[in-house]
This record gives sequence, structure tokens and C-alpha cells, in this order.
Amino acid sequence: MTKLYQRKIVLLGDPGVGKTSLVQRYIYDRFHRDYMTTLGLNFYVRTFEYPDAEVKLMIWDIAGQKSRRKIGLRYLQGASGALLTYDLTKPETFNNLSGWYEDLRTANNQKDVPVILVGTKLDLAQTKQLPLSFNLKTLGDTPAAKANLIFTSAKTDTNVDAAFNLIIQQIVSGVIPIPDISPKIIEKISTKILFFVKKGDAWSKVALNHIEKVAKKFALEVETIDAETDPQIVDAYGVTAYPTIIAGGRHLVGIVQIAHLESILHQMLEKSA
Ligand code: GDP
Ligand code: MG
Repeated sequence: MTKLYQRKIVLLGDPGVGKTSLVQRYIYDRFHRDYMTTLGLNFYVRTFEYPDAEVKLMIWDIAGQKSRRKIGLRYLQGASGALLTYDLTKPETFNNLSGWYEDLRTANNQKDVPVILVGTKLDLAQTKQLPLSFNLKTLGDTPAAKANLIFTSAKTDTNVDAAFNLIIQQIVSGVIPIPDISPKIIEKISTKILFFVKKGDAWSKVALNHIEKVAKKFALEVETIDAETDPQIVDAYGVTAYPTIIAGGRHLVGIVQIAHLESILHQMLEKSA
């Protein structure tokens, strides 16, 4: 019997940061310079099929460019995940993310809803040669401060799928039971760092550099698996977002988590000692 799950994802962030552009790129693979600002809500659905389950994701986007004050908590209620978006060319929009996150928690009985931090308009930031800012301090010690961070451009279609995949993977991992992992795979995990990449992903190179350094310290081997050439291996490990590494049986997804690889390995080794 196939089980059907419905989950809600909301897009949050200041007016004009590029929420609608992001979701339109994701769903329709298109980019417009100007969007009609209509009243109400834009609403998108994507369904993902798994062996015994179907996950229907509803992505909610506020139509028009509403400020935080004008958005009712109802929009945020029942969200299983959120993209906290900010404009890389306007650092002040990052500082407002803590407020958005607070609203998200308030609307969901103080639950820690999974979030991804998404910097938008990467193309513009690069043209203007701006530093890619993210002031994590403004998020205090909330779970949002430890969330994955990804830089995107809806215009050039950079990392848009990846941003959605990151949040989807978090949501789905709470819904779909972890697939049985064969003993052979477990053996591999304890002696190697598995690095899953998608060709052409700009982050992969940066991440690999870092991973190899850390691996050397811990005398671990790194095995790189390409999503396109080895789809079965990717499936077997349940990887849906890139870059992902699996170390000690843990999936670390996205550049921020990968940046924490060393401390995570330290913790794991301490526990097993
Ligand atoms: P929203 O209010 O957060 O939904 O923002 P919109 O998606 O309506 O975008 C606001 C403005 O930023 C529009 O003029 C978009 O064309 C522009 N924009 C959005 N994403 C990008 C991007 O990745 N690159 C560039 N250069 N402009 C973008
Ligand atoms: Mg919009």
C-alpha cells in the first residue's frame, strides 16, 4: 500500500529578495524580470514517489511583496519546512531572517521547523563584486543558525534545484523510513568518507578540497560518487541533494554542514572510543 503524505513548505524573506523568482525557476524553469504583484498567495505542488510512499509537497509563496507585518501567522501554520531567503546584494535582508524565523516558530507552537538559508541574486552579487555575506550572529543560538546555507541565482539557474532539494531531503527523511543498508555499505561508511556530487555543481570543487584536507587528518579515504554516472549507488544511500557527504553513517548535506565535517568526525570518534 502506498502511503500518501502531504507537506507544506513556505518561502520567507523580505519583499523583493527573489522568493517568487526562486520558486518559479524551480517549478517552471523560467525567469522573468517583472512579476505581476497580485493579491493573496501563489501555490505550487510537486509530488515525489518512493517505493511505498508518495510525498506531495505544497510550496507556498506570498503573492506580491508583503512585509513581515502584513503576513498573518496563518500563512506559516503547519509548515514542515521553510526557505529563509535573503538578497546577497542587500546584507540587511539577512538581519531580518531572525524575525522571519521567530514568526515561523510562533505560528507552529514553538516547534523547530527545518529551514534552509538561501542567499539570492548570486549573479548580481558577483557582477558587483560584493562579498557573499551571511551574518550568522544575528540568528543567535536558534536552530536556524546551524541550518544549511546556499547561494543561488534564479536568473542564471544556479543552485535553485539544490536549495529546494536540501529542504525536501530534510522533510522526506522525517517521513520515509530509512532504507535498509546492506552490511557491505556499513563497512564502507566506517572506513571512508563518501562524497556525492553532481557534475558542474560549483560547490563540489570547493567542498572536495576541504573534505580531502579533513580526511587526511583522520586517515580516512575519500570516495567520490557522481550522481549521473552512479544513480544506483546514490539511490542505495538515499541521497537526493548535492553536495552530500556520508561519514560514519551520517548524511551531511550542503556546504555549511560539510564545513562542520571535522568537528562532527571528532565527536563521532570520541563516542566510539
Ligand atoms: P519577492 O518579492 O521576494 O517574491 O521577489 P521577486 O521574485 O518578485 O524578485 C524581485 C526582483 O528581483 C525582480 O525584479 C526580479 O527580477 C529580481 N530577481 C529575483 N531573483 C533574481 C536573481 O537571481 N538575479 C537577479 N539579477 N535578479 C533577480
Ligand atoms: Mg513574490
